[in-house]
Amino acid sequence: MKISNNAVVAMHYTLTDNDGNVIDSSSGREPLKYLHGAGNIIPGLEKELAGCEKGDSKKVVVEPAEGYGEVDPNLVQKLPHEMFQGVENIEVGMEFQAQSPTGQTQFVVVKDVSDDGVTIDANHALAGKVLNFDVTIEEVREASQEELDHGHVH
Ligand code: ZN
Repeated sequence: MKISNNAVVAMHYTLTDNDGNVIDSSSGREPLKYLHGAGNIIPGLEKELAGCEKGDSKKVVVEPAEGYGEVDPNLVQKLPHEMFQGVENIEVGMEFQAQSPTGQTQFVVVKDVSDDGVTIDANHALAGKVLNFDVTIEEVREASQEELDHGHVH
């Protein structure tokens, strides 16, 4: 069975940056499962897997626009120290959960700490990066009606 919309796909993958550093991998874990066509994975990868079948291996290069987006400078901002009351020692690299103006929970990372404020970055850690996937398809099957209703794999 070839991968097309409404197929459940199980795959092993390794994700590297353009310098060859491994960012993420399913090696040693269960394969990643997703429902094809439901937007469960980034668009640039989903598109390239259409038509693959069990046993296929593929290299997919995903540009930022079809991955985690470009870096948005508006998501980097300096906040007053008062907003971090209760946090003992704020250090570069610390992550916080914040509420976006639309009520969604997002992660922000501390980029800089100075006397006049704390600079945080709410961009996704992989924003602006070219993503290099090495994928092996382990299984392709039809989704159940319940999986289609829910939009994800059970
Ligand atoms: Zn469900």
